Amino acid sequence: MAYKISDDCISCGACAAECPVGAITEGDGKYVIDADTCIDCGACAGTCPVDAPSAE
Ligand code: SF4
Ligand code: SF4
Repeated sequence: MAYKISDDCISCGACAAECPVGAITEGDGKYVIDADTCIDCGACAGTCPVDAPSAE
């Protein structure tokens, strides 16, 4: 299980700053979550202004 960021992402970077394990990095056109690092805490979903991160 890991969170995943949808194409709705506007690359604001807020989630990356909140992630406690540094699983989120800027990707091509949107931010991406490293599934092997994500601990499923949900902080990114709670921070995102466009609800782009969701649990798979
Ligand atoms: Fe980081 Fe938590 Fe979001 Fe996973 S669910 S990417 S650990 S903030
Ligand atoms: Fe994208 Fe939302 Fe993260 Fe901002 S907080 S970079 S819009 S996923």
